[in-house]
Amino acid sequence: MVRYKELNHKAAGHDGTLTDEEGILVFKPATKQETNFYQAIQNTRNFNEEVSKTDNYDIPLIDWMPTFLGILDEGQASPPDNVHLLKDPNLDEATLKQLIKDTDNKDMRSKRYLVLENLLSTFRKPNVLDVKLGKILYDDNATKEKKERLTKVSNETTSGSLGFRICGMKIRKNKLTKGLSESYFENGNDGYISVNKFYGRSRTKENIKDAFEMYFADDELSSERRLKLKTTFFQRLQLFYNTLLNEEVRMFSSSLLFIYEGDSTIWDLRHDEDRILKSDFFDSDSDDESEDPLEDDEEIATDTAYKKSSLSSMHLIDFAHSRLTPSLGYDENIVDGVDNLLKVFEELQNHA
Ligand code: ADP
Ligand code: MN
Repeated sequence: MVRYKELNHKAAGHDGTLTDEEGILVFKPATKQETNFYQAIQNTRNFNEEVSKTDNYDIPLIDWMPTFLGILDEGQASPPDNVHLLKDPNLDEATLKQLIKDTDNKDMRSKRYLVLENLLSTFRKPNVLDVKLGKILYDDNATKEKKERLTKVSNETTSGSLGFRICGMKIRKNKLTKGLSESYFENGNDGYISVNKFYGRSRTKENIKDAFEMYFADDELSSERRLKLKTTFFQRLQLFYNTLLNEEVRMFSSSLLFIYEGDSTIWDLRHDEDRILKSDFFDSDSDDESEDPLEDDEEIATDTAYKKSSLSSMHLIDFAHSRLTPSLGYDENIVDGVDNLLKVFEELQNHA
């Protein structure tokens, strides 16, 4: 039987996302809209593969997303905690209605999960950063109250000024995190800290670069390696930008999830060779294994997970407010944010 546990290395977001004991998969509480989006994107991929493989050099959106494996329904949904109250003969109608509403909502959330590739599974000492994209953070379905609240957040943060905002980080303590004010982080296990949303919300156009410098400052890596990371992510962002220009989608409150390896022995084994794009989740045996630098290391060679490892990755996540919008053109709200991110990363490379 599979045992589930809370996903530990999370940079931001709600509770309730689970992983299996080996940390290969992620189970995210499913909403209808996010489920629909993953399924719709998968269908366009199948369609495109049939139609043409030749004249499309750009990377499709799906290649920037975690591999979607399907939907999991809990085999036996346990009865909601307060179901016995429903039998209370003295219950008034208003309370009854509220109870039914609560149990409905609860069931909706607890029963169904998206099963995704765990993007952290191939990292040994990951540093994780969640960057929320877009100046507009809500979709048309949002309530008036939510629209007002998120407009305010946007106006007061770099969401408004730059079209992106740092949502959170889960990183190892480093020489630059030492300067963090106490209200911006919590201490975790094994020398990790969680940088909270208030940190990201308090950044400005003027100091946003320092936030990325802090993210890339893992003490275990040489300055050459840290510079290499900045360049690699810059290249990814350029490719991602081109992807976005070809995709007709509207995505609100989606994030770019940055991950890099802080364990220098993995860098040694990989001879500092990173890959720009992820290796296919299912495609573990097609690599020429004799060329794999990790084969040299007996201990790790037995661990197939590390054969698929990269030194860093960038993915688009969180599609709870995303949909396909054929014939509406590219998503300007997202494209503008990535454009500004590119500018920051261009500058980052000038300082090791
Ligand atoms: P929410 O809707 O709660 O914001 P997200 O999809 O944005 O959920 O995920 C929240 C956090 O969980 C992210 O910041 C990231 O750290 C982690 N996470 C989400 N999906 C994955 C994944 N497939 N693999 C690894 N970590 C993930
Ligand atoms: Mn999120």
